[in-house]
Amino acid sequence: MTTEAAETGRLQPLLERLGAGLDAYLTFEHPDALHGGARWRARLDAPLPQQGIGADAVVDELLHEVVPFGSAIPRPGFSGFITTGATTVATLAATAASVASPQRYGLTSFNFLEALSLRWLADAFGLGAMQGVYSSGGSTANLLALGAARQQAFERLGCDPAADGLQLHRPVAVYASTETHHTVQRAAGVLGLGRRAVRAIACDAGGRMRVDALRAAIEADRRAGVLPMAVVANAGTTNTGAIDPLSSIGELAKAQGLWFHVDGAYGLPGLLDERVATLFKGLALADSVIVDPHKWLGAAVGIGATFVHDRGLLQRAFTQEPAHYLEGSVEPAATEPGTQHSMDDFGTPYFDYGVELSAPARGVVVWALLREIGIAGLRERVRRHNDMATAVAQMARAHPNLELLLEPTLSICCFRYVAPGVDDLDALNQRLHRRLMRENRNMPSTTRIGGRLALRPCFVGARTGMAQARELVADVLRIGDALVREGALAAAAA
Ligand SMILES: *Cc1c(COP(=O)(O)O)cnc(C)c1O
Repeated sequence: MTTEAAETGRLQPLLERLGAGLDAYLTFEHPDALHGGARWRARLDAPLPQQGIGADAVVDELLHEVVPFGSAIPRPGFSGFITTGATTVATLAATAASVASPQRYGLTSFNFLEALSLRWLADAFGLGAMQGVYSSGGSTANLLALGAARQQAFERLGCDPAADGLQLHRPVAVYASTETHHTVQRAAGVLGLGRRAVRAIACDAGGRMRVDALRAAIEADRRAGVLPMAVVANAGTTNTGAIDPLSSIGELAKAQGLWFHVDGAYGLPGLLDERVATLFKGLALADSVIVDPHKWLGAAVGIGATFVHDRGLLQRAFTQEPAHYLEGSVEPAATEPGTQHSMDDFGTPYFDYGVELSAPARGVVVWALLREIGIAGLRERVRRHNDMATAVAQMARAHPNLELLLEPTLSICCFRYVAPGVDDLDALNQRLHRRLMRENRNMPSTTRIGGRLALRPCFVGARTGMAQARELVADVLRIGDALVREGALAAAAA
């Protein structure tokens, strides 16, 4: 076989084999997956290949040397991160896009699904006529939103910050709570405002931004000659899932003439659960909103979405000037709709609304997962995960060896193991957490709540359900009891 034939060989037989291997991976029963670390590394650590081994052998290596030693993130019991494993149709749609639409532009079905799925998300989350753009995730989505905020603020002062650079005659300030994701600071850095332009506004005991502290910070800045630019509120903090008082913050931002950005990277789908939907009141005041389909929606990783009212702002903030090799390669279609060729036009020029030119078609993934289960299915998932956090909270309240550290808002619950006579509960819970990770089954993360170390399960995976919430609590009690016993034995022996 020539090299060319090998490189472009038929997908079906190889995908079938890979699919079987991935299904096997998702049973999480590979005997070496947890402990074979040294061995897989030694086997993979080869010098630069001078001669290739061919596609079949690559698939073999994928199946035997790579996939089995992948990440614990897709496990049903993994609740440590706020991203999760892709659902089956999300995986398939991402694969289809990589073959049938290597770019998101062109007059293709894939470019159309970018628009359609963004509209569906706006519909689903009550964003009305807001216009969206996909990017690689929450980090970039926040960057784009704050780029639009910067554009508006400086255009009002009569300059174009994207074209001419920042002519800062006075420092600028962005307001965000102490619980805000640090990608907001990075965005401020990248946009030339400076990470220190982000004011850390105090939260109440529930992790929600204090509106009185926000108002005081804005007023203090104005007195000091600083230019207040934007307020960032959380619709579900990464740490605890707290939702800032969006209405009051939005009204204050409007009254002060500031851009109001809502970071719903994780929590925005929470509003599908009618039991907490009222907490999202005030979203309608937002100038920009982000959500990460690769979190609660179960998309393949690499998909965030930014929504603004006027995509023209994004275009002015992020356009690349026209290039001959690009714009010259298409002629805007003069032909009848329906008779156009896919390369007659770029379709919606998403590359002008963000920081990526080449980018995967992401809309097809969101389209596929919404087509599969609909809003009804997504709501069911969100409610199930919120129920799991509530169940952990109830078990923590009811058991003498557990303590609830914060009432859950969405699908995150912060609690810890406690025992009489143990002074250093932080150290005990840290060791308990390490054992949970080594057992490789039920894996929350840790955080600090009011200075105390908490176990923090965040339930977002499509594969996780109430059984995992119960198992996690049982594991915590079993390991906690064992650690206390071991501690008592050690003390007795000393
Ligand atoms: C996860 C998260 C981000 C960052 O998103 P990435 O997709 O990881 O880049 C930003 N904000 C919040 C609230 C998040 O939960």
